Amino acid sequence: MSATIIDGKAYAAALRIRIAAGVADFAEATGRRPGLAVVLVGEDPASSVYVRSKGKATEAAGMIGIEHRLPADTSQADLLALVAALNTDATIDGILVQLPLPEPIDEAAVIQAIDPDKDVDGFHPVNAGRLATGLPGFVPCTPLGCLMLLKDTLGDLAGRDAVVIGRSNIVGKPMAALLTQASCTVTVAHSRSRDLPGIVGRADIVVAAVGRAKMVKGDWLKPGATVIDVGINRTEAGLVGDVDFDAALAVAGAITPVPGGVGPMTIAVLLRNTLVSAARRDGHPLDAASL
Ligand code: NDP
Repeated sequence: MSATIIDGKAYAAALRIRIAAGVADFAEATGRRPGLAVVLVGEDPASSVYVRSKGKATEAAGMIGIEHRLPADTSQADLLALVAALNTDATIDGILVQLPLPEPIDEAAVIQAIDPDKDVDGFHPVNAGRLATGLPGFVPCTPLGCLMLLKDTLGDLAGRDAVVIGRSNIVGKPMAALLTQASCTVTVAHSRSRDLPGIVGRADIVVAAVGRAKMVKGDWLKPGATVIDVGINRTEAGLVGDVDFDAALAVAGAITPVPGGVGPMTIAVLLRNTLVSAARRDGHPLDAASL
């Protein structure tokens, strides 16, 4: 038996078509298009590529994409002033400050300066608190994309045993919160966890968000488990995930490939969050659950 491949690229493409339709409805009803501002400080090549692809995707969805590219020596005060201006700019529904920020800028201070109701990355502590307490807010794009793929693959997640490997604020913690909300029984594993193979072996759902190439072995998995591989690791053999994909194929029930699994979902969910923000801000009816 070979696992089903979860095609994140195809899911994300379909999601982007639904978002574009939602944007067209929004524009017709309100006379304006949702606006996403992306701020990049410095010349980090990977960040520059991400920002460009976010800009293109925004325009392709019919939204307005504004890029602010600032020099690496931009002061924290100047960056905070830009964020403050975007917070009060009525044409901007989403603000994304591309991380990492160059030294000595305090990332936490910049994230906290973003209006939580425009924080489409979902990194502001207010949105983390909203997620933890079940209030509407913004959920970080990568874990929300993982949840969409899981629901599409498995349907109702209630009662399933889920293991999230990794406890970062941008992936692991919000992923665990989302799975808890979906009534899974959730274990969060990290670098201090004992017997990771044993923990993984009990899980119906495994989300790996570590950043270590092929760390999760095929024979750790429970037969039939659904595996979501968030990891992006550059190796001599090219991009690989945190899961030993070839070995996992023989054991898992379904698995995301790297690339082509979780990766394409992140930008699609960013567009979704921006449309949701615009609709909330203008009181435009939008069934976010149908996106
Ligand atoms: P972080 O480095 O912030 O977190 C990694 C987590 O993995 C930490 O909680 C760490 O534990 C844990 N960890 C490290 N080593 C081990 C180990 N040996 N056993 C178990 N747990 C371990 O990474 P991110 O959460 O930001 O990202 C994780 C991966 O996902 C990366 O490869 C990243 O590139 C990728 N990513 C992909 C995205 C996409 O769009 N597809 C978006 C975001 C990230 P501890 O807390 O104890 O240190």
